[in-house]
Amino acid sequence: MKPSILMTIDVEDWFQVENFKKLVSYDSWDSYALRVEQNTYRLLDLLENRPSTFFCMGWVAKRLPDMIREIHRRGHEVASHGYKHDLCNLMSYDDLKQDLTNSKSLLEDIIGAPVIGYRAPSFSINADILKLIEDCGYGYDSSFNSFAMHGRYGHLDLSGCEKQGIAVKISETFYELPVSNLKIGKRIIPWAGGGYFRLIPFPVFKQGVKIILRRDNAYLFYMHPWEIDPDQPRSEELPLFYKFRHYANLDKTHLKLSAMLDSFNQNQFLSCSAYLQNAEII
Ligand SMILES: [Zn+2]
Repeated sequence: MKPSILMTIDVEDWFQVENFKKLVSYDSWDSYALRVEQNTYRLLDLLENRPSTFFCMGWVAKRLPDMIREIHRRGHEVASHGYKHDLCNLMSYDDLKQDLTNSKSLLEDIIGAPVIGYRAPSFSINADILKLIEDCGYGYDSSFNSFAMHGRYGHLDLSGCEKQGIAVKISETFYELPVSNLKIGKRIIPWAGGGYFRLIPFPVFKQGVKIILRRDNAYLFYMHPWEIDPDQPRSEELPLFYKFRHYANLDKTHLKLSAMLDSFNQNQFLSCSAYLQNAEII
């Protein structure tokens, strides 16, 4: 099989990011102008004819159902990023179950097709949560980020599980699709996208992706619509480190992403579910 590029987009607006949680309360979200729509359409234009996966927040989908339908209409996969971006490991069992179920059925009602993928906010996954995602009727999860140095990312021990490509078989009907990182010796270097994509110079990033493609024959990337939006409102109250991480190179990311898509055009672009199907997994 030709090397695969799995582009994934977490569809959320700038003020819904975890780092803003203390500054922007959930109750006030409706008072902010939505920028996620215009930014998602810019990403859709960049990703034209490159089937990708859009993990959409239920809250956003409820307000922008036409945008969700457009993602589906353009041949991309619509998957769930939960309803209101609460970290999975901080929710009660019942609340998480409701969040997983509600976001799935809301998206399915909008697009009129099954939704089988889920990504936890801030990669907040663990073994119990993974089981619940499966029990809620999903076919795969893509929330495992092996870069353990980030405080919010969850942990999963997948070492005993069978691998099919980059997919890890959890059960007969359920898979984990971890985001891709570099491994140098025993060290994991974050290389899956997000802030690291914005900070690492593109020629260096590209070399890392090539190494991952040689190793895995597939590369799973993630980013957010707000990362190509340098005109988003700026918060002066955000702690300095978060400020750096959120705002670094926003003005360069659209161009950088375009360069990345061009650089890897000879590979096949697949949505997560298409990758699983192509590998004859599900
Ligand atoms: Zn998110």
